Amino acid sequence: MVLTFPAEAIDEPITYTLIKEYDVMINILNADITHGREGNLLIEMSGEETNVREALVYLDNKQIQISPVIKTILFRESRCIHCGACASVCFSGALDMDTATRELKFSPERCIACELCIKACPLQLFELNFGVN
Ligand code: SF4
Ligand code: SF4
Repeated sequence: MVLTFPAEAIDEPITYTLIKEYDVMINILNADITHGREGNLLIEMSGEETNVREALVYLDNKQIQISPVIKTILFRESRCIHCGACASVCFSGALDMDTATRELKFSPERCIACELCIKACPLQLFELNFGVN
């Protein structure tokens, strides 16, 4: 989900509170926060259903807008030259070089949309796709 912070909430320890007080797991995928202005945080949140529900109420009470999203990577595979640059930065294992064929394999189900491959590919074959959950 994307959390959109009002300026007055930017200095609050939101993720710390979510973890300590509501016992949820937070994985920060991207952050765009500027002091004194609105900020955005792309996170994955998981935990017991009751805890997650209470955490969402906490965020709502803090005037933090919650937007569930599905963020996926589009890959223009046909133009790939199998240089391996993207596989070397993909820590989730979604991109991997086949040792036998020396060709790139993409497993979208393993992709966590970290965006590292977007910068790594010299041919710019990856791009982000956002969808509302
Ligand atoms: S976005 Fe991240 S996890 Fe997904 S394929 Fe690219 S480097 Fe791998
Ligand atoms: S970096 Fe680009 S060209 Fe190189 S293997 Fe990855 S997708 Fe193919």
